[in-house]
Amino acid sequence: MRYLLFCLIISVGCTSAPNEGSQKLKIVCTTGIIADAVSEITNDSCIVISLMGPGTDPHLFKPTKESLDDMASADIIVSNGLHLEGRMQDILHKLERTKKVIFLGEALDSETKLYGDEAKKIPDPHIWFDVEIWKTVITYLGDELLQVAPECTDPERIIAYTTQLEDLDIWVSEEMSSIPEPQRVLITAHDAFSYFGRAYNTEVIGLQGISTMAEYGIRDVTNLVDLVISREIKAAFVETSVSSRSIEAVIAGCKDRGYNVKEGGSLYSDALGGKDSGAATYIDMVKTNVSTIKKALK
Ligand SMILES: [Zn+2]
Repeated sequence: MRYLLFCLIISVGCTSAPNEGSQKLKIVCTTGIIADAVSEITNDSCIVISLMGPGTDPHLFKPTKESLDDMASADIIVSNGLHLEGRMQDILHKLERTKKVIFLGEALDSETKLYGDEAKKIPDPHIWFDVEIWKTVITYLGDELLQVAPECTDPERIIAYTTQLEDLDIWVSEEMSSIPEPQRVLITAHDAFSYFGRAYNTEVIGLQGISTMAEYGIRDVTNLVDLVISREIKAAFVETSVSSRSIEAVIAGCKDRGYNVKEGGSLYSDALGGKDSGAATYIDMVKTNVSTIKKALK
């Protein structure tokens, strides 16, 4: 009876044993960015699954029946945490009672994290945009996986991948510093790039807050139009996982007042791109974003 009651409480299915019928360990990741990280440091004795595909907004993602089944049958779940998966927090914490759930945000101390409010109660979840921080996260992920899944976690691959991230971090710094400082301003639909801005000395201004769950109003658009015109900003960017309407409203608002700000292109903020997008992995996503930014702002 207690078991039945427990199943009802967690409501994601207790009927099957973890990954029944397969020899391979099943690691379920919430986002594609996280699944890419896990794939980079594990070998093929585990199956890595991403619940969210290209273009999916993690702030708004509501688990489907299929994703609930995947989580129920997973051996290990890896999530970003810090409220990125806004509609999955309760489920993830409930699943912790029965299986290992890794929250990558726990790799960072409070000094390293950024916050969406002055009281420091709402952490900014977009930790992957500072490549050095992401390297710290990968090291943490590797340590966690070595404990719970040593058979499929490869210490040599962890070292090789973190070395690639060190090189990427240097490359991003060099590319961004080649944009003259007054022009190094990133206007986006939502505040996904604050870690990027801090790490690479770039001013970032998002129309919405750190979650796309927040509403924006006409006043926010007007304020941003004022700022773009007064600072003579050359481009504003849309995001692949967020509606382009808000940034289009800013561009149109500028045009109405006789100022042409161009759409700088699409940035991959909270989701990887599809197979042939040039942004199907974390490293390619970062490189594609930086190239798009540099082309539009320089
Ligand atoms: Zn976001």
